[in-house]
Formats: sequence, structure tokens, C-alpha cells
Amino acid sequence: MINVLFAARTERWETYEAPLRTALARAGIDAHLAQDITPAEVDYIVYAPNSDLQDFTPYTRAKAVLNLWAGVEQVTGNKTLRIPLARMVDHGLTTGMAEWVTGHVMRYHLGMDAHIVNPSHAWAPETPPLAAQREVAILGLGALGTACAQMLLGLGFRVTGWSRSPKDVAGVTCLHGDDGLAQALKRAEIAVTLLPDTAATTNLLNADTLAQMPKGAYLINPGRGPLIDDDALLAALDAGQIAHATLDVFRTEPLPQGHPYWAHPRVTVTPHIAAETRASTASETIVENIRRGEAGVPFINLVDRELGY
Ligand code: NAP
Repeated sequence: MINVLFAARTERWETYEAPLRTALARAGIDAHLAQDITPAEVDYIVYAPNSDLQDFTPYTRAKAVLNLWAGVEQVTGNKTLRIPLARMVDHGLTTGMAEWVTGHVMRYHLGMDAHIVNPSHAWAPETPPLAAQREVAILGLGALGTACAQMLLGLGFRVTGWSRSPKDVAGVTCLHGDDGLAQALKRAEIAVTLLPDTAATTNLLNADTLAQMPKGAYLINPGRGPLIDDDALLAALDAGQIAHATLDVFRTEPLPQGHPYWAHPRVTVTPHIAAETRASTASETIVENIRRGEAGVPFINLVDRELGY
């Protein structure tokens, strides 16, 4: 019997307890799963970064921390964490993100706002172009960015992806490095940021990089707030360099009342709802890593703490 600690807020326990037990049973793993286990007896920690557990030192026997979230920026700097950290890659989360991004890309692509809100009853019969005439750039071509790229490709969009290391995704123009970023931005009529929050990605979209996008481009950020220099984006919106931005994530969440984004006519704020882990599929990911740990084979979705993601 192994001991699996569930270290997340109580409401998450209510959501996850049954799916985790089902997934453990399906994998034939005899486990004691609980929210309270003597630290020195814990074998695996199922973890949400906003849980009360912040000091991993007493968990002397634990083999891995299995994160319930895709983003790990709140954990990577924790000096007490010295065992492997796996982040969440979940089919439900990935599908949700691809659907959310595609919906917002379609809003911009089709110019839907002009007809949804039309107080002057203007009759402006401008047919939108086909997706095949529209360039979308996905900054971050990982689990989520790739799924978004593929869904958009399926609709016919011209898709460019940008990542740290070289990638090969069928049908997507894959770019990397500084030169790649400049090329990706230059063609980005619609840019989607799906990068992790690391030292290397902070303020990636700033006055300089926003100016490299085509005038009147659109920006969709479901990645993380610090990817964007907020003052630079507000200036680019006011100058018409960026026509509109849809922002799901912010440096401070909830986005404070009175923040200029709330009132800006060319910003849509969504409350960090682009995608979330779905308990049934996420439990399969967690249990697959427990199975691997017990079988002595490498964990999947491991975080590189040097890179920060
Ligand atoms: P992932 O699989 O780790 O992919 C990250 C991508 O970013 C990779 O392609 C990586 O390049 C690229 N990247 C990282 N640092 C880079 C740099 N310095 N320069 C260029 N590219 C860089 O992560 P994911 O699962 O797709 O998730 C992405 C982010 O989405 C998460 O970190 C989280 O912040 C956010 N998220 C948001 C929500 C929401 O509801 N809004 C939900 C879930 C996740 P390589 O491929 O070369 O490594």
C-alpha cells in the first residue's frame, strides 16, 4: 500500500476524490489517498500551488510532486522541493484551451463585434476573408499551443508557431529563437500567447515587440499575465497598433477594480477561465505518473526547474 497525499484546497478534494480513487483502482494501485497523512509516510503528493503545503522538507519519502495545474511558476522557485515535479497535461484542459482560443480567434477573424454591438444601425456589408487568408501566430508551441494550432489549421487558418526549441508540427510554420519571434510577430494578424511565466518570457510582448506586429493586429493572452508589459499594451491599443486584446490572465488576479483594462473599449477581460483541468482526465495523468513511479520507469511531463517550466 502506498500513501498519496492530496494537497489542495478542500473544494478540490470534493471534485477529485472519486475520480482519483477510480483511476487508482483501474490501474490496480493499492493506495491510501487522503488530505492528511504524516509527512514522513507520504509516497506521492498530488499538489495545487495554492495549497497550504509550501514546505516539502518533512516529506522525506515522497517520490514526486504531481501538479494539478499546467502552470508551475508558483512552485519552481520553492527551494524545499528537491524531488521530481510533474506538471499537468490533461486532455480535458487541452481541448478546453483549443476551443476557447478558437472561439476568440473566430470573433476577431469574422469581425463579429461590429454587428453584435451596432448602436448606430450602420449597414456596412463587408464580408470577412476566409481563414486561408488569415495569419495566426501562436507564441508557445507546447501541449496547449500545439492543440490550438491544430484546431485552427483544421479551420483553414495559416498558422505560425514559435517556441524555444525547434519544432515540427505538420502544416504549421514552426519558428524558434529571437529571429523566429521577429518573423512570427511580423505576420501575426492575430497573436495568441501560450507561453509559461518564466524569467525568459517576462514582458515578451513589450513596446518593441508589439510594434513588430502588423498595424491593427489582435492579441489573445490565455498564457500568463507577466508575458505582457501592460503599459506598453495600453499604449499600443491607444495608438491603434493593436486593434483589440482579449486577456484571460493578469499579473494580479482577480484583476483589481479600477485597472485600466476593465474600462478600455478595446480590451475584453475574461476571469482566467480559458481552460481548467477536468478531474476525470487529470486523474488519469496523475495516476499514470504514480504507476510509473512504482514501476521504476521515468515520470512524464516533468518540469525543468532551471528553465522554469
Ligand atoms: P508547455 O507544454 O510547457 O509549452 C510551453 C511552450 O512555451 C513550449 O513550446 C516552449 O518551448 C515555449 N517556451 C517556453 N519558454 C520559451 C521561451 N523563452 N522562448 C520561446 N518559447 C518558449 O506548456 P502548456 O501546457 O502548453 O501551457 C502553456 C501555459 O498556458 C502554461 O504555462 C500556463 O501558464 C498557461 N495556462 C493557462 C490556462 C488558463 O486557463 N488561462 C490554463 C492552463 C495553462 P519548447 O517547446 O521549446 O520547450
